[in-house]
Amino acid sequence: MEFTDLGLSEPILKALAAKKYTSPTPIQQKAVPVLLEGHDLCGIAQTGTGKTAAFALPSLDYFARHPKPTPVRGCRMLVLSPTRELAAQIAQSFRDYGRFLKLSVETVFGGVPINRQIKALSQGVDIVVATPGRLLDLIDQRCFTIKDTEIFVLDEADQMMDMGFIHPLKRIAKLLPTNRQNLFFSATMPKEIEALAGQFLNDPVKVSV
Ligand code: AMP
Repeated sequence: MEFTDLGLSEPILKALAAKKYTSPTPIQQKAVPVLLEGHDLCGIAQTGTGKTAAFALPSLDYFARHPKPTPVRGCRMLVLSPTRELAAQIAQSFRDYGRFLKLSVETVFGGVPINRQIKALSQGVDIVVATPGRLLDLIDQRCFTIKDTEIFVLDEADQMMDMGFIHPLKRIAKLLPTNRQNLFFSATMPKEIEALAGQFLNDPVKVSV
């Protein structure tokens, strides 16, 4: 199978060609068509399987086909990551795959001055990749809102739980709008992760690699 078989639009295919990616990985083959149809997804996949592109490509494709002004003080897509290193990597992937689209991508994480992030978010942003704690700080300071989120991704859910992010995640869940697409990824799916997934997902398609 090739990327051209997945139904992705031209700007995305061009970006993939520039990266010299020709064939989708198994998680991409399974997840991309489901996500392009607008379903929620629960994916069991480890890092290194190509899961970042599995959620970035169809989301970018959706924004290419449904252009809208960037929400004022908010975002169209929220990706939650447990660590700042992963958040930075995910943001870079969105910039790479979205290089032929006019979309703004920002990261939000702790350990760096909050003022710079407040400024970067002050006009709203299309895609924000965040760690839960700093995101809530910005929301509590009324510098940001997630009420306009159209696509929500929770990445590395098992690591989120290990790092004690359960309460921040529950707060974030309450601040999201009801009408949205949800993607949930975890390397493992024990009972407590499944319960967390249930709080975010709406009739998800399950994919495992
Ligand atoms: P991830 O699992 O998202 O961390 O991706 C693992 C690595 O595989 C990253 O360096 C990606 O850039 C790369 N990658 C993702 N999808 C593909 C693909 N279809 N072909 C070649 N490399 C890929």
